[in-house]
Amino acid sequence: MNAATFRKAWGLEAFASACARRRLKRISVWGDQIEQVGVRAAKRLLRDAGLSPFGYNRAGPVLAADPGRRRTLFAAAMNEIDRAAEIGADHVLLFTGGLPEGSKDLNAARRDTVEIFQQLLEHARNAGIALAVEPLHPMLCGDRSCIHTLSHANDICDTLGPGIGIVVDVYHVWWDERIEADIKRAGAANRILGFHVSDWLVPTKHVLTDRGLMGDGIIDLNGIWKQLLAAGYDGPIEVEIFSEHWWAQDPDDVLDLALERCRSLFDGGSGGVAN
Ligand code: ZN
Repeated sequence: MNAATFRKAWGLEAFASACARRRLKRISVWGDQIEQVGVRAAKRLLRDAGLSPFGYNRAGPVLAADPGRRRTLFAAAMNEIDRAAEIGADHVLLFTGGLPEGSKDLNAARRDTVEIFQQLLEHARNAGIALAVEPLHPMLCGDRSCIHTLSHANDICDTLGPGIGIVVDVYHVWWDERIEADIKRAGAANRILGFHVSDWLVPTKHVLTDRGLMGDGIIDLNGIWKQLLAAGYDGPIEVEIFSEHWWAQDPDDVLDLALERCRSLFDGGSGGVAN
């Protein structure tokens, strides 16, 4: 479970204990929630709940036109990587942010991104934690990310070498005609770090905060899961639903419903279902 699914109702402690009650083993966390309780307390809290942190959100944004602003963002991203390593997360999600203010040069933003990721990667290798590139839906190109396809993410990982991998979030990549080929390519390079699930609703009211519960939309979730398994992925299925609708419901009900949907959609997979 990713904490973002419940972020309006639960802080880290309530989220962790709800997951522990359902005997889940791994959760994905957000830096702001860790900061609220402090790293040491967060570590203890997770350990006591029998949970290990999986994904850590996030390092970034990193793109900025102003050099001073860019340095500030870079330092903040380094801190997030340190915090993720300290808490013992499996990987840190990288987040480029949108085009720098005033810029229309997407190619330059993409070149800068690779350069910045390279510097962050050196730091992450020393800290002993993996970095994760998560392509975001192209509708988010203006304000949130300049990486939208698994092809691009694979290219970046090929360029940068060991220590950086890919998180496949169905919401962002389900539409891509190359999805299967690129999952295969990422699997062959042993770089698939995570699998995020939600669903694409028709119509979608808001590209950021109207994700559907698995099974309520049009994504072939089981089909994509099988592609991941065929590519050798043996990690968990992670539920990450940004949704005003679901944030407004009782979080315990949402958690139970999400688990139920995962069981019906993915059971018969690796046995690592929804943990
Ligand atoms: Zn995601």
